[in-house]
Amino acid sequence: MRFLTDVVQNLGTSDSPERFKKTYLLLVFSSLILILALSFTVISQQNRNNLIDDAEFHSEKIALALLSSESNFIHTRTRDGADTLSIDPADIASLDLNIRLFLHPFNIVKIKIYNSEKRIIYSTEQALIGKSDRGNLRLGNALGGMRQSVIKNRQSITDLSDERRMEVDVAEVYVPVRNERGQVVGVFELYSDIGDLKNSFRDHLVYSLATIFIALLLLSLTSYVVIVRESDALSTAYQLLETLATVDSLTGIYNRRQLLIRAAELYSMMQRSREKLPDGVGLGVIMIDVDFFKLVNDTHGHLVGDNILNDLTRRIETVLRPYDVFGRYGGEEFLLFLPNTSCEEAKQISCRILNTVSCEPYQVGELSLRVTTSIGCTWTDAHEENLDHVLSRVDNLLYEAKRSGRNQVVCRF
Ligand code: GH3
Ligand code: MG
Ligand code: MG
Repeated sequence: MRFLTDVVQNLGTSDSPERFKKTYLLLVFSSLILILALSFTVISQQNRNNLIDDAEFHSEKIALALLSSESNFIHTRTRDGADTLSIDPADIASLDLNIRLFLHPFNIVKIKIYNSEKRIIYSTEQALIGKSDRGNLRLGNALGGMRQSVIKNRQSITDLSDERRMEVDVAEVYVPVRNERGQVVGVFELYSDIGDLKNSFRDHLVYSLATIFIALLLLSLTSYVVIVRESDALSTAYQLLETLATVDSLTGIYNRRQLLIRAAELYSMMQRSREKLPDGVGLGVIMIDVDFFKLVNDTHGHLVGDNILNDLTRRIETVLRPYDVFGRYGGEEFLLFLPNTSCEEAKQISCRILNTVSCEPYQVGELSLRVTTSIGCTWTDAHEENLDHVLSRVDNLLYEAKRSGRNQVVCRF
């Protein structure tokens, strides 16, 4: 039960389509086993009930027909004020012959007739005649007026002490015999050979289970194909959404939101591992702003400005290390976080950016434009300050670079 709840919860919360597919397969597989096991139990029980119903129906009909055809030999007589079945011992041989002829077309392998005192007054097994079966509970119930049945396989059937084992599967049915006033005067016990019936029920069981299995398998496969197709489409949409939410569409680097998320991660990671960092190693923070960019737009148009922003981003990337975090902070403003960096390294990287951005003119169609940047650079070991303080400091440094004439780096730590 717990397993099922876990699976259902997983289906609901699964964040990756791959995990969803695995969970779905697991669910389908366990449902398949469960449905097959349930079907097996229900159909087997139904078959068993049908076997018993069938055996009881036929046994009752045969007992009544036998009673009426052999009424010359099977009498009802009164003993101690109560009616009971009786057979004259002298008639046994003739009765036996008639019964065997009578039973020939049916699947009856053995028959016993009891009087109301539980004594066997006739049996196809002659040695049992005259014996009493007092402890037989089913016989007692049948004498009480209830029809009794039991299915016995070839290993389990035993009867009175000297009776040999039966070599067939049998349904053992006790049929009460009544006089004209409705009182039970004796019991017919019929043993029907149900081997063929059992085989046909087994075939029915196998056929039903195979049909259910194939139907479920086809259904599961079809739904799995649909799910795979849908979850692949979902996965693509999910990736697109993730890109749209994290990447700046013009430059392809982190957008402001993702940049600040990554910066906060870096910062708290550094705070946690501050003791392990060597002295002088911390987080370099650099803010870059393009100089007079409004003028570029106003003179050459926004498209030219976009092209320059894009090319400028690529140039800055050539200076970065794989683990640096770089993103677009706003319009023509960029922010760069340098983990595991000393003050000196942060300063060097700032100067390299300044030079790379301005060393060559930008080629946009026929146009060739030179662009410079102003850069604020600072550094922190995440001690006694938070990220907002650092951002505000680097912003001021950038402002200072602008005021001091642009196209320069201002560093302070
Ligand atoms: P300063 O040197 O003081 O930074 O001057 P500036 O002109 O660069 O600064 P200002 O803040 O006056 O103007 C920024 C300009 O950047 C205005 C805006 O049109 C432009 N800009 C912002 N985002 C984009 C963009 O995505 N594409 C283009 N083409 N221009 C942009
Ligand atoms: Mg600017
Ligand atoms: Mg600006």
